[in-house]
Amino acid sequence: MTEVLNQLFIGGAWADAADGATMPVDDPATGEILCHVADAGAKDARLAEEAAVQAQQEWARTSPRARSEILRRAHEIILERTDELAHLMTSEMGKPLAEARGEVAYAAEFFRWFSEEAVRIDGGYGTLPDGRNRMLLSRRPVGPCLLITPWNFPLAMGTRKIGPAIAAGCTMILKPAPQTPLSSLALAGILKEAGLPDGVLNVVTTSRASEVCEPLLRGGRIRKLSFTGSTAVGRLLLAQCADTVVRTSMELGGNAPFIVFDDADLDVAVDGAMVAKMRNMGEACTAANRFFVHRSVAEEFGRRLAERMGALVVGPGTRDGVDVGPLIDRTGRGKVEELVADAVERGARVLVGGRTPEGPGCFYPPTVLTDVSAESRLMDTEIFGPVAAILTFDDEDEVLSRANDTQWGLVGYVFTQGLDRGLRVSEGLEVGMVGLNTGLVSNPAAPFGGVKQSGLGREGGRVGIDEFLEYQYVAVPVR
Ligand code: NAP
Repeated sequence: MTEVLNQLFIGGAWADAADGATMPVDDPATGEILCHVADAGAKDARLAEEAAVQAQQEWARTSPRARSEILRRAHEIILERTDELAHLMTSEMGKPLAEARGEVAYAAEFFRWFSEEAVRIDGGYGTLPDGRNRMLLSRRPVGPCLLITPWNFPLAMGTRKIGPAIAAGCTMILKPAPQTPLSSLALAGILKEAGLPDGVLNVVTTSRASEVCEPLLRGGRIRKLSFTGSTAVGRLLLAQCADTVVRTSMELGGNAPFIVFDDADLDVAVDGAMVAKMRNMGEACTAANRFFVHRSVAEEFGRRLAERMGALVVGPGTRDGVDVGPLIDRTGRGKVEELVADAVERGARVLVGGRTPEGPGCFYPPTVLTDVSAESRLMDTEIFGPVAAILTFDDEDEVLSRANDTQWGLVGYVFTQGLDRGLRVSEGLEVGMVGLNTGLVSNPAAPFGGVKQSGLGREGGRVGIDEFLEYQYVAVPVR
Protein backbone atom coordinates (compact mmCIF):
# COMPACT_ATOMS: atom_id res chain seq x y z
CA MET A 1 0.00 0.00 0.00
CA THR A 2 1.20 3.51 -0.73
CA GLU A 3 1.63 6.11 1.97
CA VAL A 4 -1.46 6.78 4.13
CA LEU A 5 -2.42 10.47 4.02
CA ASN A 6 -3.16 11.77 7.52
CA GLN A 7 -3.12 15.59 7.36
CA LEU A 8 -5.77 18.17 6.58
CA PHE A 9 -6.12 19.11 2.91
CA ILE A 10 -6.63 22.87 2.65
CA GLY A 11 -6.05 25.09 -0.37
CA GLY A 12 -4.37 22.20 -2.22
CA ALA A 13 -1.76 21.64 0.50
CA TRP A 14 -1.39 19.08 3.29
CA ALA A 15 -1.19 20.53 6.79
CA ASP A 16 -1.37 19.59 10.45
CA ALA A 17 -4.17 21.02 12.58
CA ALA A 18 -3.33 24.59 13.64
CA ASP A 19 -3.22 23.55 17.31
CA GLY A 20 -1.29 20.36 16.47
CA ALA A 21 -4.14 18.09 17.63
CA THR A 22 -4.44 14.57 16.26
CA MET A 23 -7.01 11.81 16.69
CA PRO A 24 -6.67 8.03 16.50
CA VAL A 25 -8.24 5.89 13.79
CA ASP A 26 -9.15 2.41 15.04
CA ASP A 27 -9.34 -0.92 13.26
CA PRO A 28 -12.78 -2.25 14.28
CA ALA A 29 -11.62 -5.83 13.67
CA THR A 30 -8.96 -5.65 16.40
CA GLY A 31 -9.74 -2.53 18.41
CA GLU A 32 -6.15 -1.42 17.81
CA ILE A 33 -5.11 2.04 16.65
CA LEU A 34 -4.24 2.06 12.94
CA CYS A 35 -2.77 5.56 12.84
CA HIS A 36 -3.40 9.14 13.93
CA VAL A 37 -4.79 11.88 11.69
CA ALA A 38 -4.97 15.64 12.08
CA ASP A 39 -7.88 16.74 14.29
CA ALA A 40 -9.11 20.07 12.93
CA GLY A 41 -10.47 22.85 15.13
CA ALA A 42 -12.20 26.18 14.52
CA LYS A 43 -9.10 27.86 13.07
CA ASP A 44 -8.65 25.11 10.46
CA ALA A 45 -12.31 25.45 9.55
CA ARG A 46 -11.78 29.16 8.91
CA LEU A 47 -8.75 28.42 6.71
CA ALA A 48 -10.70 25.83 4.73
CA GLU A 49 -13.60 28.26 4.33
CA GLU A 50 -11.26 30.98 3.12
CA ALA A 51 -9.69 28.58 0.58
CA ALA A 52 -13.11 27.49 -0.71
CA VAL A 53 -14.43 31.05 -0.92
CA GLN A 54 -11.29 32.35 -2.67
CA ALA A 55 -11.36 29.55 -5.26
CA GLN A 56 -15.09 29.82 -6.02
CA GLN A 57 -15.19 32.55 -8.66
CA GLU A 58 -12.45 31.21 -10.88
CA TRP A 59 -13.66 27.64 -10.50
CA ALA A 60 -17.18 28.67 -11.57
CA ARG A 61 -15.62 30.13 -14.74
CA THR A 62 -13.81 26.93 -15.78
CA SER A 63 -15.32 25.20 -18.77
CA PRO A 64 -17.74 22.35 -18.11
CA ARG A 65 -15.48 20.18 -20.28
CA ALA A 66 -12.48 20.89 -18.04
CA ARG A 67 -14.47 19.96 -14.92
CA SER A 68 -15.76 16.85 -16.66
CA GLU A 69 -12.24 15.73 -17.61
CA ILE A 70 -11.01 16.05 -14.02
CA LEU A 71 -13.82 13.81 -12.81
CA ARG A 72 -13.17 11.36 -15.60
CA ARG A 73 -9.46 11.14 -14.75
CA ALA A 74 -10.25 10.71 -11.05
CA HIS A 75 -12.70 7.92 -11.95
CA GLU A 76 -9.92 6.10 -13.79
CA ILE A 77 -7.36 6.56 -11.01
CA ILE A 78 -9.82 5.24 -8.42
CA LEU A 79 -10.43 2.12 -10.49
CA GLU A 80 -6.71 1.58 -11.08
CA ARG A 81 -6.21 1.70 -7.29
CA THR A 82 -9.17 -0.49 -6.40
CA ASP A 83 -7.19 -2.92 -4.24
CA GLU A 84 -5.30 -0.25 -2.39
CA LEU A 85 -8.45 1.77 -1.63
CA ALA A 86 -10.40 -1.36 -0.67
CA HIS A 87 -7.72 -2.34 1.86
CA LEU A 88 -7.69 1.16 3.30
CA MET A 89 -11.48 1.17 3.65
CA THR A 90 -11.60 -2.29 5.21
CA SER A 91 -8.91 -1.35 7.71
CA GLU A 92 -10.77 1.72 9.00
CA MET A 93 -14.37 0.58 8.58
CA GLY A 94 -14.35 -3.23 8.77
CA LYS A 95 -16.36 -4.33 5.73
CA PRO A 96 -15.05 -7.45 3.95
CA LEU A 97 -12.64 -6.77 1.10
CA ALA A 98 -15.06 -8.00 -1.56
CA GLU A 99 -17.62 -5.45 -0.38
CA ALA A 100 -14.98 -2.75 -0.16
CA ARG A 101 -13.99 -3.45 -3.78
CA GLY A 102 -17.67 -3.16 -4.70
CA GLU A 103 -17.86 0.19 -2.95
CA VAL A 104 -14.77 1.44 -4.79
CA ALA A 105 -16.47 0.67 -8.11
CA TYR A 106 -19.73 2.28 -6.91
CA ALA A 107 -17.87 5.36 -5.65
CA ALA A 108 -15.90 5.74 -8.90
CA GLU A 109 -19.09 5.52 -10.93
CA PHE A 110 -20.42 8.72 -9.34
CA PHE A 111 -17.42 10.53 -10.84
CA ARG A 112 -18.03 9.03 -14.27
CA TRP A 113 -21.74 9.79 -14.08
CA PHE A 114 -21.19 13.42 -13.08
CA SER A 115 -18.38 13.86 -15.62
CA GLU A 116 -21.13 13.12 -18.14
CA GLU A 117 -23.59 15.50 -16.46
CA ALA A 118 -21.10 18.40 -16.19
CA VAL A 119 -21.35 19.05 -19.92
CA ARG A 120 -25.16 18.87 -20.02
CA ILE A 121 -26.05 21.78 -17.74
CA ASP A 122 -28.67 23.55 -19.78
CA GLY A 123 -30.54 26.84 -19.72
CA GLY A 124 -33.47 28.30 -21.61
CA TYR A 125 -34.60 31.09 -23.90
CA GLY A 126 -38.20 31.94 -24.61
CA THR A 127 -40.98 34.48 -24.78
CA LEU A 128 -43.11 35.04 -21.71
CA PRO A 129 -46.89 34.51 -22.04
CA ASP A 130 -47.59 38.26 -22.32
CA GLY A 131 -45.44 38.40 -25.47
CA ARG A 132 -43.72 41.56 -24.20
CA ASN A 133 -40.73 39.97 -22.49
CA ARG A 134 -38.15 37.38 -23.25
CA MET A 135 -36.91 35.02 -20.56
CA LEU A 136 -33.26 33.97 -20.45
CA LEU A 137 -32.56 31.17 -18.00
CA SER A 138 -29.08 30.15 -16.92
CA ARG A 139 -27.82 27.85 -14.23
CA ARG A 140 -25.03 28.72 -11.85
CA PRO A 141 -23.18 26.96 -9.07
CA VAL A 142 -24.72 27.62 -5.64
CA GLY A 143 -21.30 28.54 -4.26
CA PRO A 144 -19.03 27.12 -1.54
CA CYS A 145 -20.51 23.98 0.04
CA LEU A 146 -20.05 22.05 3.25
CA LEU A 147 -20.27 18.29 2.74
CA ILE A 148 -20.66 16.10 5.83
CA THR A 149 -20.45 12.32 5.46
CA PRO A 150 -20.97 9.25 7.69
CA TRP A 151 -18.64 6.29 8.25
CA ASN A 152 -20.66 3.48 6.69
CA PHE A 153 -19.71 4.08 3.03
CA PRO A 154 -16.45 6.00 3.49
CA LEU A 155 -15.69 6.51 -0.21
CA ALA A 156 -19.07 6.48 -1.95
CA MET A 157 -20.78 8.98 0.37
CA GLY A 158 -17.95 11.37 -0.52
CA THR A 159 -17.99 10.89 -4.30
CA ARG A 160 -21.82 11.12 -4.36
CA LYS A 161 -21.46 14.73 -3.12
CA ILE A 162 -18.08 15.76 -4.54
CA GLY A 163 -18.97 14.53 -8.06
CA PRO A 164 -21.99 16.81 -8.59
CA ALA A 165 -20.34 19.72 -6.74
CA ILE A 166 -17.34 19.60 -9.09
CA ALA A 167 -19.58 19.13 -12.13
CA ALA A 168 -21.68 22.17 -11.14
CA GLY A 169 -18.64 24.38 -10.46
CA CYS A 170 -18.91 24.60 -6.66
CA THR A 171 -15.99 24.66 -4.25
CA MET A 172 -16.31 22.66 -1.05
CA ILE A 173 -15.20 21.60 2.39
CA LEU A 174 -15.60 17.90 3.13
CA LYS A 175 -15.91 16.79 6.75
CA PRO A 176 -15.81 13.00 6.89
CA ALA A 177 -16.80 10.93 9.93
CA PRO A 178 -13.98 10.65 12.48
CA GLN A 179 -14.06 6.82 12.36
CA THR A 180 -13.20 6.76 8.62
CA PRO A 181 -11.13 9.78 7.60
CA LEU A 182 -8.52 7.85 5.59
CA SER A 183 -10.67 7.08 2.53
CA SER A 184 -11.62 10.78 2.20
CA LEU A 185 -8.01 11.91 2.46
CA ALA A 186 -7.02 9.34 -0.19
CA LEU A 187 -9.79 10.74 -2.40
CA ALA A 188 -8.43 14.26 -1.99
CA GLY A 189 -4.99 13.00 -3.09
CA ILE A 190 -6.53 11.39 -6.17
CA LEU A 191 -8.45 14.53 -7.15
CA LYS A 192 -5.31 16.63 -6.80
CA GLU A 193 -3.51 14.17 -9.06
CA ALA A 194 -6.41 14.36 -11.52
CA GLY A 195 -5.85 18.12 -11.81
CA LEU A 196 -8.40 19.63 -9.43
CA PRO A 197 -7.30 23.24 -8.79
CA ASP A 198 -6.22 24.22 -5.28
CA GLY A 199 -9.00 25.25 -2.92
CA VAL A 200 -11.82 23.58 -4.84
CA LEU A 201 -11.89 20.63 -2.43
CA ASN A 202 -10.76 21.01 1.17
CA VAL A 203 -10.89 18.12 3.64
CA VAL A 204 -11.05 18.68 7.38
CA THR A 205 -10.87 15.57 9.51
CA THR A 206 -12.02 16.25 13.05
CA SER A 207 -13.39 14.83 16.26
CA ARG A 208 -14.82 18.29 17.02
CA ALA A 209 -17.71 18.33 14.53
CA SER A 210 -19.74 21.17 15.98
CA GLU A 211 -16.71 23.41 16.64
CA VAL A 212 -15.78 23.03 12.96
CA CYS A 213 -19.18 23.00 11.28
CA GLU A 214 -21.44 25.36 13.22
CA PRO A 215 -19.43 28.56 12.52
CA LEU A 216 -19.31 27.56 8.84
CA LEU A 217 -23.08 27.13 8.66
CA ARG A 218 -23.82 30.30 10.62
CA GLY A 219 -21.10 32.43 9.02
CA GLY A 220 -22.93 33.35 5.82
CA ARG A 221 -20.18 32.42 3.34
CA ILE A 222 -21.06 28.73 2.93
CA ARG A 223 -24.09 28.60 0.66
CA LYS A 224 -25.00 24.94 0.76
CA LEU A 225 -24.93 22.01 3.18
CA SER A 226 -25.06 18.48 1.82
CA PHE A 227 -25.37 16.10 4.76
CA THR A 228 -25.59 12.33 5.04
CA GLY A 229 -26.12 10.89 8.49
CA SER A 230 -28.71 10.34 11.18
CA THR A 231 -32.06 12.12 11.32
CA ALA A 232 -31.23 13.47 14.80
CA VAL A 233 -28.08 15.25 13.60
CA GLY A 234 -29.85 16.29 10.38
CA ARG A 235 -32.51 18.14 12.41
CA LEU A 236 -29.84 19.97 14.40
CA LEU A 237 -27.99 21.05 11.26
CA LEU A 238 -31.19 22.22 9.56
CA ALA A 239 -31.75 24.53 12.52
CA GLN A 240 -28.18 25.86 12.21
CA CYS A 241 -28.76 26.50 8.49
CA ALA A 242 -31.92 28.48 9.11
CA ASP A 243 -30.29 31.72 10.32
CA THR A 244 -28.37 32.38 7.13
CA VAL A 245 -30.79 30.44 4.90
CA VAL A 246 -28.20 27.94 3.74
CA ARG A 247 -29.55 25.62 1.08
CA THR A 248 -29.63 21.97 2.21
CA SER A 249 -29.68 18.40 0.92
CA MET A 250 -30.28 15.87 3.67
CA GLU A 251 -29.79 12.12 3.28
CA LEU A 252 -30.95 10.84 6.64
CA GLY A 253 -31.87 7.63 8.39
CA GLY A 254 -34.18 4.86 7.23
CA ASN A 255 -36.42 2.16 8.68
CA ALA A 256 -37.07 0.07 5.58
CA PRO A 257 -40.02 -2.31 5.47
CA PHE A 258 -39.36 -5.57 3.60
CA ILE A 259 -42.72 -7.07 2.57
CA VAL A 260 -43.08 -10.67 1.40
CA PHE A 261 -46.52 -11.60 0.04
CA ASP A 262 -47.89 -15.14 -0.11
CA ASP A 263 -47.45 -15.21 -3.92
CA ALA A 264 -43.74 -14.25 -3.75
CA ASP A 265 -41.05 -16.50 -5.17
CA LEU A 266 -39.43 -17.36 -1.84
CA ASP A 267 -36.01 -18.02 -3.40
CA VAL A 268 -36.05 -14.53 -4.86
CA ALA A 269 -37.31 -13.07 -1.56
CA VAL A 270 -34.60 -14.75 0.49
CA ASP A 271 -31.90 -13.64 -1.99
CA GLY A 272 -33.31 -10.12 -1.78
CA ALA A 273 -33.37 -10.28 2.02
CA MET A 274 -29.72 -11.31 2.15
CA VAL A 275 -28.76 -8.22 0.16
CA ALA A 276 -31.18 -5.78 1.78
CA LYS A 277 -30.17 -6.93 5.27
CA MET A 278 -26.56 -7.98 4.99
CA ARG A 279 -25.01 -5.45 2.60
CA ASN A 280 -22.44 -3.63 4.72
CA MET A 281 -23.22 -5.90 7.74
CA GLY A 282 -26.60 -4.19 8.00
CA GLU A 283 -24.91 -0.82 8.54
CA ALA A 284 -26.73 0.87 5.67
CA CYS A 285 -29.51 3.45 5.61
CA THR A 286 -31.18 1.21 3.02
CA ALA A 287 -31.01 -1.87 5.29
CA ALA A 288 -34.26 -3.81 5.69
CA ASN A 289 -35.26 -3.04 9.28
CA ARG A 290 -38.75 -4.58 9.54
CA PHE A 291 -39.58 -7.82 7.71
CA PHE A 292 -43.34 -8.15 7.21
CA VAL A 293 -44.01 -11.66 5.92
CA HIS A 294 -47.44 -13.07 5.03
CA ARG A 295 -48.55 -15.45 7.78
CA SER A 296 -48.84 -18.40 5.36
CA VAL A 297 -45.17 -18.25 4.29
CA ALA A 298 -43.56 -16.73 7.40
CA GLU A 299 -42.27 -19.95 8.88
CA GLU A 300 -40.73 -21.16 5.63
CA PHE A 301 -39.22 -17.75 4.89
CA GLY A 302 -37.74 -17.54 8.41
CA ARG A 303 -36.30 -21.05 8.16
CA ARG A 304 -34.62 -20.37 4.80
CA LEU A 305 -33.33 -16.97 5.86
CA ALA A 306 -31.92 -18.36 9.11
CA GLU A 307 -30.16 -21.12 7.17
CA ARG A 308 -28.52 -18.61 4.83
CA MET A 309 -27.63 -16.17 7.62
CA GLY A 310 -26.22 -18.95 9.81
CA ALA A 311 -23.90 -20.07 6.99
CA LEU A 312 -22.17 -16.68 6.71
CA VAL A 313 -18.56 -16.50 7.89
CA VAL A 314 -17.87 -13.75 10.44
CA GLY A 315 -14.34 -12.41 10.86
CA PRO A 316 -11.86 -9.66 10.01
CA GLY A 317 -12.71 -8.17 6.63
CA THR A 318 -9.19 -8.69 5.31
CA ARG A 319 -9.36 -12.48 5.78
CA ASP A 320 -10.22 -14.65 2.74
CA GLY A 321 -13.70 -16.15 2.77
CA VAL A 322 -15.15 -13.73 5.34
CA ASP A 323 -18.69 -12.55 4.57
CA VAL A 324 -19.40 -10.41 7.63
CA GLY A 325 -16.88 -8.02 9.16
CA PRO A 326 -17.04 -6.25 12.54
CA LEU A 327 -19.48 -3.46 13.36
CA ILE A 328 -18.00 0.01 13.41
CA ASP A 329 -17.35 0.31 17.15
CA ARG A 330 -18.39 -0.88 20.62
CA THR A 331 -21.15 1.73 20.81
CA GLY A 332 -22.69 0.51 17.55
CA ARG A 333 -22.50 -3.10 18.71
CA GLY A 334 -23.90 -2.24 22.14
CA LYS A 335 -26.96 -0.69 20.49
CA VAL A 336 -27.58 -3.86 18.44
CA GLU A 337 -27.25 -6.02 21.59
CA GLU A 338 -29.77 -3.86 23.44
CA LEU A 339 -32.30 -3.94 20.60
CA VAL A 340 -32.09 -7.75 20.36
CA ALA A 341 -32.41 -8.15 24.15
CA ASP A 342 -35.46 -5.88 24.16
CA ALA A 343 -37.11 -7.83 21.30
CA VAL A 344 -36.45 -11.15 23.05
CA GLU A 345 -37.86 -9.81 26.33
CA ARG A 346 -41.02 -8.94 24.43
CA GLY A 347 -41.40 -12.47 23.09
CA ALA A 348 -39.23 -12.75 19.94
CA ARG A 349 -37.68 -16.15 19.17
CA VAL A 350 -34.05 -16.29 18.03
CA LEU A 351 -33.77 -18.55 14.98
CA VAL A 352 -30.03 -18.00 14.58
CA GLY A 353 -27.33 -15.77 16.10
CA GLY A 354 -28.10 -13.35 18.90
CA ARG A 355 -24.98 -13.91 21.01
CA THR A 356 -22.00 -11.58 21.09
CA PRO A 357 -18.75 -13.51 20.65
CA GLU A 358 -15.89 -13.22 23.15
CA GLY A 359 -12.64 -11.57 22.13
CA PRO A 360 -11.37 -8.39 20.53
CA GLY A 361 -13.09 -6.58 17.69
CA CYS A 362 -16.69 -5.47 17.35
CA PHE A 363 -18.17 -8.63 15.87
CA TYR A 364 -21.86 -9.54 16.02
CA PRO A 365 -23.32 -12.67 14.41
CA PRO A 366 -25.98 -12.64 11.67
CA THR A 367 -29.23 -12.97 13.60
CA VAL A 368 -32.81 -13.80 12.68
CA LEU A 369 -35.64 -13.05 15.10
CA THR A 370 -39.19 -14.19 14.53
CA ASP A 371 -42.52 -13.53 16.29
CA VAL A 372 -41.23 -10.01 16.91
CA SER A 373 -43.67 -7.82 18.80
CA ALA A 374 -44.75 -4.58 17.14
CA GLU A 375 -43.92 -2.89 20.45
CA SER A 376 -40.21 -3.81 20.21
CA ARG A 377 -37.81 -0.89 20.12
CA LEU A 378 -36.22 -2.11 16.89
CA MET A 379 -39.50 -1.35 15.10
CA ASP A 380 -38.82 2.37 15.31
CA THR A 381 -35.02 2.38 15.65
CA GLU A 382 -32.48 1.78 12.90
CA ILE A 383 -30.86 -1.51 13.93
CA PHE A 384 -27.68 -0.80 11.94
CA GLY A 385 -26.47 -4.37 12.35
CA PRO A 386 -26.95 -7.88 10.95
CA VAL A 387 -30.31 -8.55 12.60
CA ALA A 388 -33.46 -9.51 10.66
CA ALA A 389 -36.67 -9.01 12.63
CA ILE A 390 -39.70 -10.88 11.25
CA LEU A 391 -43.36 -9.99 11.88
CA THR A 392 -46.39 -11.50 10.18
CA PHE A 393 -49.34 -9.89 8.39
CA ASP A 394 -52.62 -11.05 6.89
CA ASP A 395 -53.66 -8.60 4.20
CA GLU A 396 -52.39 -5.92 1.88
CA ASP A 397 -54.08 -2.86 3.41
CA GLU A 398 -52.95 -3.86 6.86
CA VAL A 399 -49.30 -4.31 5.83
CA LEU A 400 -49.22 -1.03 3.92
CA SER A 401 -50.52 0.88 6.89
CA ARG A 402 -48.04 -0.80 9.26
CA ALA A 403 -45.15 -0.25 6.83
CA ASN A 404 -46.01 3.46 6.58
CA ASP A 405 -46.47 3.88 10.32
CA THR A 406 -43.05 5.48 10.85
CA GLN A 407 -41.41 8.89 10.71
CA TRP A 408 -38.99 7.56 8.08
CA GLY A 409 -39.48 7.04 4.35
CA LEU A 410 -36.22 6.19 2.62
CA VAL A 411 -36.78 2.83 0.93
CA GLY A 412 -39.10 -0.16 0.98
CA TYR A 413 -38.86 -3.66 -0.52
CA VAL A 414 -41.80 -5.60 -1.97
CA PHE A 415 -41.79 -9.25 -3.02
CA THR A 416 -44.73 -10.59 -5.04
CA GLN A 417 -45.19 -12.25 -8.41
CA GLY A 418 -48.33 -10.22 -9.07
CA LEU A 419 -47.57 -7.25 -11.29
CA ASP A 420 -50.63 -5.26 -10.26
CA ARG A 421 -50.04 -5.87 -6.58
CA GLY A 422 -46.34 -5.03 -6.90
CA LEU A 423 -47.09 -1.68 -8.50
CA ARG A 424 -50.03 -0.91 -6.21
CA VAL A 425 -48.03 -1.57 -3.05
CA SER A 426 -44.96 0.28 -4.38
CA GLU A 427 -47.17 3.31 -5.06
CA GLY A 428 -48.75 3.02 -1.62
CA LEU A 429 -45.46 3.03 0.26
CA GLU A 430 -44.45 6.44 1.63
CA VAL A 431 -40.80 6.13 0.57
CA GLY A 432 -38.40 7.69 -1.92
CA MET A 433 -37.26 4.36 -3.36
CA VAL A 434 -38.69 0.85 -3.77
CA GLY A 435 -37.00 -2.44 -4.56
CA LEU A 436 -39.67 -4.54 -6.30
CA ASN A 437 -38.46 -8.14 -6.15
CA THR A 438 -34.92 -6.93 -5.51
CA GLY A 439 -32.95 -6.10 -2.38
CA LEU A 440 -30.68 -3.49 -3.98
CA VAL A 441 -31.75 -0.05 -5.19
CA SER A 442 -28.55 2.03 -5.05
CA ASN A 443 -27.20 3.08 -8.43
CA PRO A 444 -25.40 6.31 -9.42
CA ALA A 445 -27.79 6.78 -12.36
CA ALA A 446 -30.89 6.71 -10.10
CA PRO A 447 -32.09 9.50 -7.78
CA PHE A 448 -31.31 8.37 -4.24
CA GLY A 449 -33.17 9.86 -1.31
CA GLY A 450 -36.11 9.74 1.02
CA VAL A 451 -39.36 11.40 2.04
CA LYS A 452 -40.70 12.29 5.51
CA GLN A 453 -37.86 12.45 8.05
CA SER A 454 -35.49 10.46 5.81
CA GLY A 455 -34.40 13.59 4.03
CA LEU A 456 -34.66 16.41 1.55
CA GLY A 457 -33.43 16.32 -2.02
CA ARG A 458 -31.84 13.57 -4.09
CA GLU A 459 -28.30 12.40 -4.83
CA GLY A 460 -27.26 10.78 -8.10
CA GLY A 461 -29.35 10.42 -11.24
CA ARG A 462 -30.14 13.27 -13.61
CA VAL A 463 -31.35 15.41 -10.70
CA GLY A 464 -28.24 14.98 -8.50
CA ILE A 465 -26.49 17.98 -10.05
CA ASP A 466 -29.56 20.23 -9.53
CA GLU A 467 -28.84 20.26 -5.80
CA PHE A 468 -25.67 22.25 -6.55
CA LEU A 469 -27.11 24.66 -9.13
CA GLU A 470 -29.25 27.80 -8.90
CA TYR A 471 -31.37 29.27 -11.68
CA GLN A 472 -30.91 32.83 -12.82
CA TYR A 473 -33.68 34.38 -14.92
CA VAL A 474 -33.01 37.49 -16.97
CA ALA A 475 -36.03 39.42 -18.29
CA VAL A 476 -35.45 41.16 -21.62
CA PRO A 477 -38.24 43.28 -23.13
CA VAL A 478 -39.11 42.60 -26.77
CA ARG A 479 -38.55 45.90 -28.61
P1 NAP B 1 -24.28 10.73 12.42
O1 NAP B 1 -23.96 10.45 13.82
O2 NAP B 1 -25.47 11.56 12.12
O3 NAP B 1 -22.98 11.40 11.79
C1 NAP B 1 -22.90 11.72 10.43
C2 NAP B 1 -21.85 12.79 10.25
O4 NAP B 1 -22.31 13.98 10.89
C3 NAP B 1 -20.50 12.46 10.88
O5 NAP B 1 -19.49 12.99 10.07
C4 NAP B 1 -20.60 13.19 12.20
O6 NAP B 1 -19.37 13.48 12.81
C5 NAP B 1 -21.31 14.46 11.76
N1 NAP B 1 -21.91 15.20 12.86
C6 NAP B 1 -22.50 14.76 13.98
N2 NAP B 1 -22.90 15.79 14.75
C7 NAP B 1 -22.56 16.92 14.09
C8 NAP B 1 -22.70 18.31 14.36
N3 NAP B 1 -23.27 18.76 15.48
N4 NAP B 1 -22.23 19.18 13.46
C9 NAP B 1 -21.65 18.76 12.33
N5 NAP B 1 -21.47 17.46 12.02
C10 NAP B 1 -21.93 16.55 12.89
O7 NAP B 1 -24.47 9.39 11.58
P2 NAP B 1 -23.48 8.15 11.49
O8 NAP B 1 -23.64 7.34 12.73
O9 NAP B 1 -22.11 8.56 11.09
O10 NAP B 1 -24.10 7.38 10.23
C11 NAP B 1 -25.19 6.57 10.33
C12 NAP B 1 -26.47 7.30 9.93
O11 NAP B 1 -26.34 7.81 8.61
C13 NAP B 1 -27.66 6.39 9.90
O12 NAP B 1 -28.78 7.05 10.45
C14 NAP B 1 -27.88 6.15 8.41
O13 NAP B 1 -29.19 5.78 8.08
C15 NAP B 1 -27.47 7.45 7.84
N6 NAP B 1 -27.13 7.31 6.42
C16 NAP B 1 -28.00 7.80 5.50
C17 NAP B 1 -27.72 7.65 4.15
C18 NAP B 1 -28.67 8.18 3.12
O14 NAP B 1 -28.25 8.31 1.98
N7 NAP B 1 -29.92 8.50 3.45
C19 NAP B 1 -26.54 7.01 3.75
C20 NAP B 1 -25.68 6.52 4.71
C21 NAP B 1 -25.99 6.69 6.05
P3 NAP B 1 -19.12 13.01 14.35
O15 NAP B 1 -19.26 11.53 14.34
O16 NAP B 1 -17.79 13.52 14.70
O17 NAP B 1 -20.17 13.63 15.21
